[in-house]
Amino acid sequence: MTNHPHRERDDAPEPAPESVPPMTELPPGLSQNGHGPTARLMEALPQMLFQAVTAALQQVQVTTAPLPCATCFLARLQWGASHAAEFREAERAYAAAVAEQEQKDPQDRVALDPASFAPDSLQSAPPLQGGTVMVGGTLYCAQHIPGAPGMPGTSPLLIAQAHLTPGMLSEMTRGRAA
Ligand SMILES: [Zn+2]
Repeated sequence: MTNHPHRERDDAPEPAPESVPPMTELPPGLSQNGHGPTARLMEALPQMLFQAVTAALQQVQVTTAPLPCATCFLARLQWGASHAAEFREAERAYAAAVAEQEQKDPQDRVALDPASFAPDSLQSAPPLQGGTVMVGGTLYCAQHIPGAPGMPGTSPLLIAQAHLTPGMLSEMTRGRAA
């Protein structure tokens, strides 16, 4: 009876760290063929995380306001500067109308529409389009891409024509056709 396993353990010292099973031994839950419960969880985790992140992202409204076209923006700035006096006058008129309403009894007040005070020239404001193409670090809308066909003043050939004789032009055209 001395070779009974339990009896033997009582006498033997605690297993030394060296006797820890080698690394080829899989941790609990992982079977040799990799299909234990932990293995299945580890296989499913990335997919679960991906789905969780995707679901979370779908809750977030991501709005990236497009940057304006540089040419459009400059045109709008110049337009605004040239109509600044009109806008100051419109602001004064609106502020005066608001002050006038505030003098009245609450039941006599009428709602004011700020847009109705906007100067008529607002209708002539140049369009401010979003930049779609970047050229040399500057964003342009489709209408303002430098060098685009049909763009006045942007084609180098159109500028050069003013300084070229018809003979030189035909020479150039021949060279380009070749
Ligand atoms: Zn533009």
